[in-house]
Amino acid sequence: MVEPMNWLRNFMMGRYGPDSFSLFLIVISLVCTLVSSLFGGLWPLLFISYALWFWVIFRMLSRNIEGRAKENEKFMVFWNWVKEHTVGIRGWLTTQANRFRDRRTHKYFRCPKCRQMVRVPKNKGKVRIICPKCKNEFIRQTGKSAAQRAREEQARAEKSAARAAKKADKAGKK
Ligand SMILES: [Zn+2]
Repeated sequence: MVEPMNWLRNFMMGRYGPDSFSLFLIVISLVCTLVSSLFGGLWPLLFISYALWFWVIFRMLSRNIEGRAKENEKFMVFWNWVKEHTVGIRGWLTTQANRFRDRRTHKYFRCPKCRQMVRVPKNKGKVRIICPKCKNEFIRQTGKSAAQRAREEQARAEKSAARAAKKADKAGKK
């Protein structure tokens, strides 16, 4: 009996196999399929998706290992360029994601001097913030603290009690 894994290994012998470029093509292909299905099956996108799969299979089975490796090198140059030129936007997206994740516990402020985003715990009243990057100090309102809220609640209760007493007083005089 032929072991299936052995068969596969023999079959792939001398062939190029998977690499980063193929992985990238698969991801693009999946995106095409997804977008196509969102629009109820756009055939040009489906066509591109299948074409990319054929390209991936062709590359993996190719015996021109040097040629395929060169393609992958070119792709890596392109990919590094993309990574370098999206540092800003990726950082911004990460900050927004963190901001959403911590929305109940933390507030985010931008340093007025160097524009650095600073994360501080929420509901601590007015706090003095020291920018971790440029050491600039600034004061921000992080929301009412529990103690402050309790004080305000008490003040409100006292006020309404006083009002009720006044009303009772008036009623008594009549
Ligand atoms: Zn700063």
